[in-house]
Amino acid sequence: MSKTCIKCGKDFDDSSITDQISQKYPSCQACWSEWTTYSVMVINELRLDMSLPEHRKALRKHERMFFGLEKPEELQKNPDTGARDNLSQV
Ligand SMILES: [Zn+2]
Repeated sequence: MSKTCIKCGKDFDDSSITDQISQKYPSCQACWSEWTTYSVMVINELRLDMSLPEHRKALRKHERMFFGLEKPEELQKNPDTGARDNLSQV
């Protein structure tokens, strides 16, 4: 079956996918292997311990950002200037 990669927007044939976990998001093999390389970097950089649920959550956040499911700004949000300002303007 033909799918469209969520990351690069190219069509790919999902019968060519060997790593089924990559189909958590419809992503082509190239983008998925890019993410696996990147995730190792993230894990090393943030010293994530995959046995800890909080750390797995952090990695999943990066995963979603990588595939464009989450806006990068959300991570840098300053709690002092974020939601509260929006509320006071209503
Ligand atoms: Zn792709």
